[in-house]
Formats: sequence, C-alpha cells, structure tokens
Amino acid sequence: QAATFPNGSPRKTLVILGSGWGAVSLLKNLDTTLYNVVVVSPRNYFLFTPLLPSTPVGTIELKSIVEPVRSIARRAPGEVHYYEAEALDVDPVNKTVKIKSVNTEHEYQLDMKYDYLVNGVGAQPTTFGIPGVVENSSFLKEISDAQEIRMKIMTSIEKAASLAPTDPERSRLLSFVVVGGGPTGVEFAAELRDYVDQDLAKWMPELSKEINVTLVEALPNILNMFDKSLVDYAQDLFKQDRIDLKLKTMVKNVDKTHITAKCGDDLTKVPYGVLVWATGNAPREVSKNLMEKLEEQNSRRGLLIDEKLQLIGAQGSIFALGDCTFYPGLFPTAQVAHQEGEYLAKVFKKLHKIDQTKWELAQDNTNDPKAQSKLNRLESQIQPFHYEHMGALAYIGSEKAIADLAVGESKYRSAGSFTFLFWKSAYLAMCMSFRNRILIAMDWTKVYFLGRDSSV
Ligand code: FAD
Ligand code: NAD
Repeated sequence: QAATFPNGSPRKTLVILGSGWGAVSLLKNLDTTLYNVVVVSPRNYFLFTPLLPSTPVGTIELKSIVEPVRSIARRAPGEVHYYEAEALDVDPVNKTVKIKSVNTEHEYQLDMKYDYLVNGVGAQPTTFGIPGVVENSSFLKEISDAQEIRMKIMTSIEKAASLAPTDPERSRLLSFVVVGGGPTGVEFAAELRDYVDQDLAKWMPELSKEINVTLVEALPNILNMFDKSLVDYAQDLFKQDRIDLKLKTMVKNVDKTHITAKCGDDLTKVPYGVLVWATGNAPREVSKNLMEKLEEQNSRRGLLIDEKLQLIGAQGSIFALGDCTFYPGLFPTAQVAHQEGEYLAKVFKKLHKIDQTKWELAQDNTNDPKAQSKLNRLESQIQPFHYEHMGALAYIGSEKAIADLAVGESKYRSAGSFTFLFWKSAYLAMCMSFRNRILIAMDWTKVYFLGRDSSV
C-alpha cells in the first residue's frame, strides 16, 4: 500500500499486538485500506479457546480449533503485514514497540514505529506465586498445554498399567487433579471423566475404575459467575459422575507427587499423577512493563482503559482490549474481547476521518471555525464502548451443559442434555471460519460413532 493517500496525506501505521479473540475480531472488521496495518504475535494462528478443554482427551482435534492469521489477513480489503514475533516493550513517548522474533533460526529484534497501537496480548495463567506450580503442573491456555496434558495422561495410565493393583504408586498415577473451579477447570474435569467412562472403560475396564478425578476449589462453590441453581446442578452432577469436589480447599504448595492444601484449619496432602492448574489470569510481561511506564496505571489486575478502550495515560495513541485490560464490569472472556474488537474497528474508521480533517486543516493553515466545528462533530461521534452480555455457557460432562443467558433485561437459565445441544450450536456459530465449523462438527460426529482417539 502507498505511504500516502491520493490527497497527499500520510497513511498512519496501526500496530496490533496479538492474534487472539480481541485482535482477530478487530482485524476481521477493520477497513485495512485506511492504515498500514501490522500484526505482531508469537502465535501465527487464532485459537478458539472455548473448545480447548475438549482437546487433551481427543473429543476435538487441535487442528479443528485454529485458524491461520495469514488466512484471516488475506481476506482483509487492504494489505496486512504479519510478524511472528513477541512484543517485549512499548515506549509510549516515542511511539515505538520493541519486538523479538520467535523463530530462533531467523532471529531479529527491532523497534517498530506506530501511530496507533492496539494491545491485545491477553493474559498468562496465574500461580499466585504458589511454590512448585510452574515446575509440576500443566496449564490449559495454549495448544502446547493441551498436547502436554494428553501426553501426561497417557504416560500415567501406561505406567500405572505396568504396576500391581496393590501398589500405592499405581493409585497415585491414576489420580488426576484439577485445581481451580472456574469454567476452565470444570470443563476440563468434565471432559476427563467422560473420556475415562466412555472410552478408557472399553479397553481398560478394570484400570478405568481406579481412576480418580478431583477438582479443588478455594471458594465454597465452583463456577461463581453462574446462578446458584445452575451451580447446584453442576455440583450434583459431579457427585453422580464421581468427580471428587474439594471445596473451600486452597492449594498452598505443590511437589512432584502431591499437592498440599488448606481446608479450614487442616492441611491435607493429595497425591496426583497428572495435575492441571486453572486458577485464572495474570498480566503478561509486556503489559506489566507498560504499566510501570505510566503513572496512572496503578492496578495489578490489568491495563486500565477508559470507556473508549484508550489506555489511561497514553494520550490517545494506545488502545487495549481483552484479557490484558481491567475495567469494572468487563470480565476476561472471549465475548468481551470479541465485542471490543468490533467496536475498535469502528473507532479506527472514525479516527481516520478525524486525522484526515486535521491534516486538511493544517494544509490550509486556517483557523476556520467551520472546519474546527467539523472536527469537534467527528470527535463527538466516537461513542463509549457498550458491552452486551449474552450470557454464559459451560460444559459439565455426561453430555450436559448449563446456560445462564441474558436477552435484553430478561434472564433464561437451563441445564441438561438439551442445553448441551444448545452449547454445541452456540459454539459452532461463534467459530471464526467455515473450515473450523466443519472440522468441529466432524470431530463431534466421529466421537459419537467411533469414540475418542486417545493415541498420543
Ligand atoms: P487471547 O485470545 O489470549 O490472545 C492473546 C494473543 O496475544 C495471542 O495470540 C498470543 O499469542 C498473543 N501474545 C501473547 N504475548 C504476546 C506478546 N508479548 N506480543 C504480542 N502478542 C502476544 N471465554 C468465553 O467467553 N467463553 C468460553 O467458552 C471460554 N472458554 C475458555 C476456555 C479456556 C481453556 C480458556 C483458557 C479461556 C476461555 N475463555 C472463554 C476466555 C477467552 O479465551 C479469553 O477471554 C480470550 O481469549 C481473551 O481474548 P484476548 O484477545 O484478550 O487474548
Ligand atoms: P477463573 O478465574 O474463572 O477461576 C479460577 C478459580 O480458581 C476460582 O474459582 C478461584 O477461587 C480458584 N482458585 C484460585 N486459587 C486457588 C488455589 N490456590 N486453590 C484452589 N482454588 C483456587 O479462571 P478460569 O476458569 O481459568 O477462567 C478465566 C477466564 O476465562 C474467566 O473470565 C472465565 O469466565 C473465562 N472462561 C470462560 C469459559 C466459559 O464461558 N465457558 C470457559 C473458560 C474460561
């Protein structure tokens, strides 16, 4: 794309950090002919996170929930440059972002200039500094995490199968523990139990009966964002399905074979063969570095933004969306990040008009009040972001799901097998591409007729 527009005004550079829900939603809706658009992300694909908990046990194949960034960029009306790199540091004064390639065979580091920057780097899993978590557990955030969990499950099962039934090591290896009763932990525990009961039970009937799935949650109940009736339904189902729920139990320490948790005044040790850690989000390094540079950024929960998604303290040149931000009432969900991306695409269209008007004014070198009022009118057209909450859904196992839906002011709640069908159709509708939709539908059909593929 030319560096200038036909009228001679410069084309501004818009750098988007990330290729997740927020960044991709922005990219898909952005008029990319208006800017030099540059996307920087260490991940050259978009990941459909809602179905990630289904992947370690093979309900859904990993390739079914990814979409290459380049294929998304290719469909944009204007040119989009993609760098497979990680943003290390942002300089809000000189408007540069330092990036480093992730490809070690083609290593580079450079300072990239921007006129506008959108931070959509998401968050990283939090450990609350609990000793031993990083070394001994697996998170469930990325493709590599799902692969690691699958490998650990299969290895544990095979090792246990070679030991005598009376060997205590066998029972430890067959103890699968999930920490964190938010939706990630709940959905994964449910998928794991399904796999053991529906698939493993067919070819290792005796061993499958010895497997324990435990979910540990610090609060008095799981799934705190759902209505109490749905939480009770999920907890009752977990009891029936033999998912051992340890509530009001806060993990304090993790070693190679056990977690140590505090329940009331007691400290208990729970052995594990596989440990999955899902206790929520913490800011990434690049966001923390940015917070340190701006006096106004005084929250440890995320980047503070205003109602137009502008980074507070960055004077209009930096925007942030999704899990890297903290704004009261907006939760770190795909739904929020997606709507924010759509909103920012509209903002950038308006900003382009504003910048064009400012450039024309500067060319005329006039203080024409009419031109100034046109500028004010354009600026006032950028309305604050308005989030429309559609509700929350979660898979809870045995082909059952819960739904806490919001339609306008009305609330609808449902749970069970019919809700599971709704859950499936809602996620198919949310997919980023037709290709993903087909592959996911095929995976579900395959599991229905042939069971899960549990090979590593
Ligand atoms: P992400 O989607 O995490 O994207 C961040 C992007 O930034 C990634 O591409 C990453 O590679 C890139 N990045 C990281 N570091 C850098 C860097 N230094 N420089 C440049 N780029 C960088 N929400 C729902 O609403 N419904 C659900 O059912 C649901 N299920 C979920 C299931 C799981 C297992 C998980 C983990 C989350 C789920 N969520 C769900 C939450 C949802 O995934 C997040 O809220 C959403 O991904 C946030 O979007 P984002 O764009 O802010 O971040
Ligand atoms: P979360 O923050 O929602 O839940 C983490 C849970 O871990 C909390 O209930 C917390 O009490 C518990 N916890 C924290 N420290 C603990 C400890 N030491 N011992 C025991 N328990 C501990 O995290 P998440 O489930 O990873 O979800 C992250 C975000 O992604 C949330 O906003 C969530 O809504 C969203 N998400 C949504 C869906 C969905 O809508 N189906 C699915 C997955 C994630």
